[in-house]
Amino acid sequence: MVSSQLSKNIPSLLVAGIIAALLAGCATTFIPISWGMRDKVLRISQQDEVLKILFHRYDPERNTLRVDGASFDIVEMPHKDWRFEGAYRREYKLIYRNLDIIPADGDLRNILAHEMAHHIWANFLTKEQKKGWCQHLQENPSRWQALVRSVYADAGTYDDEDFAYTVEFPRKVDVEELARLAIITEDEMRRWVKANATSEPLESRVVKVSGSWQ
Ligand SMILES: [Zn+2]
Repeated sequence: MVSSQLSKNIPSLLVAGIIAALLAGCATTFIPISWGMRDKVLRISQQDEVLKILFHRYDPERNTLRVDGASFDIVEMPHKDWRFEGAYRREYKLIYRNLDIIPADGDLRNILAHEMAHHIWANFLTKEQKKGWCQHLQENPSRWQALVRSVYADAGTYDDEDFAYTVEFPRKVDVEELARLAIITEDEMRRWVKANATSEPLESRVVKVSGSWQ
């Protein structure tokens, strides 16, 4: 009796599985960045000089790297030639990664720096600091600003994304501005510049896109 019920149920289970697979093909799933790689993520956050500075000041407990958050899907991606590799959810204060990628250490570091910048922008920067940062980019235009405007549909996210990309790949002048606005200290600025003051070529980063969701 039991086995007969089971075998009768198999076709409907298969159909349900196929439908689920078809639906999944239209969406990109994001999972907490630490899922399946918690030790690695923690290690990178403790070893990379820039991440050490950012996490020490803004998330010493590594709560943004916890594994207990719900995954989520994004159905429509902003651009056919781009993909989101990371994400930050403000409501959960949690950093995510694209389920489809297994990032190398360098990419993981960049996702963490970018999403941590969203965490800082959303939770810690004052209106004055945000205004000061936007003015800094007006006076020192970054190539990331053009990229952000070509990829993100919502103009309301431009300032946030400009900040995140610049923190991910800063120029020396950007790191100095972070200190001038008291987002980091003078000492942290010196450590940061020593460790990472130049940006990677834009061309090598074109598919590395990341976002912040409410
Ligand atoms: Zn972003």
